[in-house]
Amino acid sequence: MQDPIDQRPSRIVVDLDRLSHNLRGIRERVGVPVMGIVKANAYGHGLVAVARHLQAQGVDQLGVAFLEEGMKLRQHGIALPILVMGGIFGPQAAQFIEHDLEITVSSLAKLRQVEAAAEALGRKAVIHLKIDTGMERIGVHSYSAGPFIEAAAASRWCVLKGVYSHLACADDPDSPMTAQQLERFLDACAHFERIGAPMPLRHLANSGGVLHFPDTYLDMVRPGILLYGVLPDPASRATVDTRAALSLRSQVIYFKVVRAGNPVSYGATWAPQRDTRVVTVPIGYGDGYPRGLSSRGRVLIRGQAYPVVGRVCMDQFMVDIGSGSAWNEDEVVLIGEQDGAAVSVESLARAAGMSAYEILVGLNERIPRQYVAA
Ligand SMILES: *Cc1c(COP(=O)(O)O)cnc(C)c1O
Repeated sequence: MQDPIDQRPSRIVVDLDRLSHNLRGIRERVGVPVMGIVKANAYGHGLVAVARHLQAQGVDQLGVAFLEEGMKLRQHGIALPILVMGGIFGPQAAQFIEHDLEITVSSLAKLRQVEAAAEALGRKAVIHLKIDTGMERIGVHSYSAGPFIEAAAASRWCVLKGVYSHLACADDPDSPMTAQQLERFLDACAHFERIGAPMPLRHLANSGGVLHFPDTYLDMVRPGILLYGVLPDPASRATVDTRAALSLRSQVIYFKVVRAGNPVSYGATWAPQRDTRVVTVPIGYGDGYPRGLSSRGRVLIRGQAYPVVGRVCMDQFMVDIGSGSAWNEDEVVLIGEQDGAAVSVESLARAAGMSAYEILVGLNERIPRQYVAA
């Protein structure tokens, strides 16, 4: 039976043509293979559907955060190489190998665990070494990576496919941190040459790297948010032509006039100064529409932008349409375009004091996702 949630009038619409356009734009820009990052439910766009589409569009590889995301992709028949970028718990090593998932090896001890699991299964593990060049998250520090690289290069049970690091500040084109991280990374990679081992695929650039730092492209790039057509940070420059693939749409479910001075929603935090028309929209923070947009968000109705007023509730919120007109069942655009007007994820992020990432990945499974293509 179909999931009843799928019939909700509130929905996420993902424009697959825009995803293709964004992938193409990134490819043309970087000229090296692209690992499409689909962690966190493909940034809210839907893990399996997005992975299938990127696979059909010839993306070179996929990246996820956790083992379980990779397993889900395999379960749904995704055949592309998949790198799990997060850390690995030793006991999970066998599952990685059995599901043909590429492993991020971030320490000598983890390397030994992966080798032991591979030997026990009689099947080689495909690994990428993680070098820490300044993020201090996971990975072996670049300044002490020599023995780690030697051990991995000598491993009998690991196929050393890649070596990578992660940029902490690339979404800001003016940060000096990126050049420093690149230098540290290249220094660490030079150790392969020193010991006469073949150089694995070197990858470093996230979306910020793709946008601002061509020197970080190396042998492969790992864009996430940019693939979905959203900029990583307000400081970022749109050096690649991308378009937001996701829109969030609902409908007016109630219309009324609120008298001057009568407060709207929980906490009575907002009241109109004169009689005004207020409509209710049946979606709320229980769906991932942030409560931080209370009296700060904007929506589109009939091509006009109107303010969210009062607190966003779990399942509903209110919009002041002033003397504008709206009828029950009129379309409400929370993110996206309508009659030439637009509400971007970036603008909502700014209004809510959140990052664009949080807004996207917060949109949860209570909202059905619909995929459209010309
Ligand atoms: C999330 C992630 C990316 C993609 O980051 P964006 O900023 O969305 O492009 C790339 N590499 C690693 C290791 C990540 O964790």
